[in-house]
Amino acid sequence: MSKYAIAIHGGAGTILRSTMTPEKEAEYKQALADAINAGEVILMANGSALDAVEAAIVSLENNPLFNAGKGSVFTNMGKNEMDASLMDGKDLRAGAVAGVQNIKNPIKLSRAVMDQSEHVMLAGLGAMEFAEKAGAEFADDEYFFVPMRFEQLQKAKESDSIVLDHTEDDFENGEKKFGTVGCVALDVHGNIAAGTSTGGMTNKKYGRVGDSPVIGSGTYANNNTCAISCTGHGEYFIRAVVAYDISCLMEYKGLSLKEACDIVVQDKLVKLGGEGGLIALDAQGNIELPFNSEGMYRASKKSGEETYIGIYEA
Ligand code: ASP
Repeated sequence: MSKYAIAIHGGAGTILRSTMTPEKEAEYKQALADAINAGEVILMANGSALDAVEAAIVSLENNPLFNAGKGSVFTNMGKNEMDASLMDGKDLRAGAVAGVQNIKNPIKLSRAVMDQSEHVMLAGLGAMEFAEKAGAEFADDEYFFVPMRFEQLQKAKESDSIVLDHTEDDFENGEKKFGTVGCVALDVHGNIAAGTSTGGMTNKKYGRVGDSPVIGSGTYANNNTCAISCTGHGEYFIRAVVAYDISCLMEYKGLSLKEACDIVVQDKLVKLGGEGGLIALDAQGNIELPFNSEGMYRASKKSGEETYIGIYEA
């Protein structure tokens, strides 16, 4: 049987066993398992890595537990502004959207940008105009109204802070995390792909855009090296060009996926002050799930093996 592999994340940060309830933990694990399954059925049917990435991310976007799609955090204006991107490692085609509102699944819109436009990245009102033309599904403000997220905005406004999902002075159950979602996959044809989707930062202003829709920073895929999806403090991930840096270390220095991930996540990012993590795989089916924060919601599955689900440090 040809090999396939898939990995997903639901955000990194201060996720402590001591502050998690068994019910919440079970909910997260179920959500991660559902998303892995959504991608795996496509891979098992000889589908493409790109389709599997999109399907797994749609599953996570539709779940209010994560800061993407339905569960997106609120901006200072009380809106949900989402960023997403995906990339095909087979031919380096990519699509991305930034600062879009009322789009049910920003990852699908990124796919439409890639497949139906001659561009890579569309932003704001223009992206929404394109969404209408491309027949994307819109959802009203009510769909995106998750009470926990709205409370986060009120707290962030009180302290006039711009907050990355949950932060230490603004979190549920003592939890600091970046709830962005992402997926990387290898299909039976030997192609790899990556995608990322996020609501960004609570109380963000001025059209702030993080690393998630930036090809090379939050997302990257190249069959010759690796597929990467990041989560963490986006400003640092942009400055460190994280996803492409890992690919470059493999391409130009001949490092393994693990060596390249270790250098970027545990050394370069740490020195810069960038908290977070990423999911990575290569065309041989190796998977790495490194993070420099306390935890990262993550799951992975290789053909013929059991599903791995992790939240805290191993
Ligand atoms: N990286 C995302 C951003 O900076 C946040 C996250 O990972 O949750 O927008």
